[in-house]
Amino acid sequence: MNIILLGPPGAGKGTQARRLTEDLGMVQLSTGDMLRAAVSAGTEVGKEAKAIMERGDLVTDEIVIKIIDDRLDEPDTEKGVIFDGFPRTLGQADALSDLLDRKGLALKSVVEMRCDDEQLVVRVTGRFTCGMCGEGYHYSFKMPAKEGVCDKCGSTDFKRRDDDNEEAFRTRLLNYYKDTSPLIGYYHAKGTLSPVDGTAAIDEVEKQIRAAITA
Ligand code: ADP
Ligand code: ADP
Ligand code: ZN
Repeated sequence: MNIILLGPPGAGKGTQARRLTEDLGMVQLSTGDMLRAAVSAGTEVGKEAKAIMERGDLVTDEIVIKIIDDRLDEPDTEKGVIFDGFPRTLGQADALSDLLDRKGLALKSVVEMRCDDEQLVVRVTGRFTCGMCGEGYHYSFKMPAKEGVCDKCGSTDFKRRDDDNEEAFRTRLLNYYKDTSPLIGYYHAKGTLSPVDGTAAIDEVEKQIRAAITA
């Protein structure tokens, strides 16, 4: 089963993707995580993407399509993939459709995570993650059970993203409305779209997504 989590920055895509991978045997493919890894490693792609990502603009379709194309050839994607943050443009959506056809894969559903702008800015500016395992946290909504210690792996090393400031967030949100939100109509027309209420509590959103993807 292959699914897409579609939604603006801070809608909860990464949070929910991680939960779904825990028991469904699917892998999370986050182009944001893959690009951040390329930036840290200092690869050619990383050098090209760094400043673009810091501003909150989109890197080229060519770069992310190549990343996804290569990643889908790895055997761990066989049980299914959760696309998180990809596709983000109509060009990427068309390319994904071609890629899946070529690899003999199908798209089960596209979950649209709806959330209002004011809640998004609060979520993004209060977000932090575990530097070891990547578990996501929030200063107001999801603190570790024991202060300063990751619930998942026990690490005490946490980090924040360079682009999780209000200015870059506003650019990302604008780009979402301009370039990504047309995908809602695109997948609706294809009959694969399932909207969920992303403003609900994390457990409730998870329930709605599980119901949507098994329907
Ligand atoms: P995205 O991957 O869509 O950008 P994240 O999953 O990283 O979003 O979530 C953004 C922030 O909001 C994180 O700090 C996360 O802990 C928090 N969060 C995610 N879902 C919810 C929710 N349903 N309610 C409250 N906070 C949430
Ligand atoms: P968020 O969790 O806030 O939605 P991501 O981690 O998905 O953000 O993406 C961070 C940044 O990486 C984006 O602002 C953009 O610069 C780049 N990026 C990630 N995925 C894509 C994509 N599919 N197309 C173009 N740029 C991307
Ligand atoms: Zn951890």
